[in-house]
Amino acid sequence: MSVVERLGENRVGKKQQTVGVLNLQQMGGQVSIPDGVHVVVVGGGFGGIAAAQQLKSQGIDFTLIDMRDAFHHNVAALRASLQPGFVQRTFIPYAETFGHSFVQGRVEQVDTHRQLVILQGGKEIYYSHLILCTGSDGPFPGRFNIEASYETAIQAYQDLITQFQAADSVLVVGGGATGVEMAAEIKTEYPDKKVVLIHSRIALADTELLPSVRQQAKQVLLEKGVELLLGQKVCNLSELQLNVTQKNTVVKTDKGETLTTDLIICCTGLKINSAAYASSLSDSMADSGALKVSNHLQVEGFSNIYAVGDCADIKEPKLAYYASLHAAVAVTNIINSLSGKGLTSYSTGYVSMLLAMGRDDGVGQFNGFRLPRWLVAFGKSRDLLLWKSWKEMQQKQP
Ligand SMILES: Cc1cc2nc3c(=O)[nH]c(=O)nc-3n(C[C@H](O)[C@H](O)[C@H](O)COP(=O)(O)OP(=O)(O)OC[C@H]3O[C@@H](n4cnc5c(N)ncnc54)[C@H](O)[C@@H]3O)c2cc1C
Repeated sequence: MSVVERLGENRVGKKQQTVGVLNLQQMGGQVSIPDGVHVVVVGGGFGGIAAAQQLKSQGIDFTLIDMRDAFHHNVAALRASLQPGFVQRTFIPYAETFGHSFVQGRVEQVDTHRQLVILQGGKEIYYSHLILCTGSDGPFPGRFNIEASYETAIQAYQDLITQFQAADSVLVVGGGATGVEMAAEIKTEYPDKKVVLIHSRIALADTELLPSVRQQAKQVLLEKGVELLLGQKVCNLSELQLNVTQKNTVVKTDKGETLTTDLIICCTGLKINSAAYASSLSDSMADSGALKVSNHLQVEGFSNIYAVGDCADIKEPKLAYYASLHAAVAVTNIINSLSGKGLTSYSTGYVSMLLAMGRDDGVGQFNGFRLPRWLVAFGKSRDLLLWKSWKEMQQKQP
C-alpha cells in the first residue's frame, strides 16, 4: 500500500495491527454460527459501524444501537460548521445500511447477569456477546453526541455557519489537534476574519507528534494569519456563551490579558462516554471512565464483552483509525471463540498522525517521519476521508 493510500485512511495510521482484519478476510465468505448468538453493538461511531459491517458481512445476527439515526463523520465536523452545503456529507443514515438491525435509542444500563442492554424507556435487548463502542464526547462543533434526528443535526451545523458569517473575529480555545484544525479551517474559509487561538501550553497539537511537525503546525497557522496566544488560559470561560456571535465579548486570560472577540469556539476537553455501563462495569473501569481490556479487547472480568475505540483503555491516541482496527479484532475474537479457535491479540505500534490545516494544507508524520505538507493536503485535507465512510456504509455520498 502506498503512503498516499495509507494517508487516505486517517489522521493516524500505523504499520501493524492488521491481524484481526486478515483473519476475517482469510475466512472468506460467511462462518457457521451456533443458534442463539446475538451480538449487540452499542454506539455507531467509527468503531461501531466497522463492527456492525463485519458482523453483517459474516451473516452474524446483530443489533447496532445509537442515540442518533445517522453516523457522524466527526473528522469532517469542523469544516461542516463553516462551509455551506458540506454538512450533509458528514451524517450517514444507519437504517439504509443496517435495516432492522439498527435500533435508535440511548442505552442506559447493561445487565451483565441477564445479558441485557436496557434502553431509555425500558426496552431490553438480549446479547450473547456485547461490543461497547460508546466513544468519547467533547464540545460542539467537533462532536455532536446528543439524541437528535438527522434534520436536527444538519440544522445545528447550518446555524453555526450563520454565526461564523456574522462574526468579524473568532477566538478558538484550545490548541490541541482539534483547535489547530479549527483555526486553520476558519482562516481558510474566511481569510479576512481575525482568528485568535489561545492554548495553555507553548507547543501546539498532540504530544505524540514529532516536535518538527508541531512546529510546522504553528508555522502554517502563522502563514494563514492566525494570531497565537500561547501559555495562557481563558479564565472566565464558564461565563462566556459559546458558538453564538456576540459582538465585542470581553475575554480574560490567566496572565492578565484582555481581548475582545465576536465568537468563541471551544476545542478542549475529551470525556469518555461511559454512562451506559458506569454501574455494572465500574470494577472494570480506569479513572478516565474507559474500560480496561485484555490484549484480546475483552473487558476485564468478562469473556463475552468487548470494548472498542475511544472507550477502551488502551495506551494510544484516541483516533477513528484505531477504533476500526479494534472492531476487527473484537469481531474476529467473537467468531474465533465460537469456533474454538485461539483469540487474536491487539498491540499498539508506531504512531502516525495527519492534521488537516484547511482544505489546502496539512502537516503530519508517517511511521516517525515528517511528511511534506502537500502530501497531507492531498491525502487527507481535501476530502477529510469522507469517501471512506460512505464506502463502508455502502451508500452514495450526496
Ligand atoms: C474534530 C475532530 C477531528 C478528528 N480527526 C480525526 C482524524 O482525522 N483521524 C482519526 O483517526 N481520528 C480523528 N478524530 C478522533 C475520532 O473522531 C475518534 O477517535 C473516533 O470518533 C472514535 O470512534 P468511536 O467509535 O470510539 O466513538 P465515537 O465516534 O465517539 O462514537 C460513539 C458513538 O456512540 C454513541 N453513544 C454513546 N453513548 C451511547 C449510549 N449510551 N447509547 C447509545 N449510543 C451511544 C454516540 O452517539 C456515537 O455515535 C477526530 C476527533 C475530532 C473531535
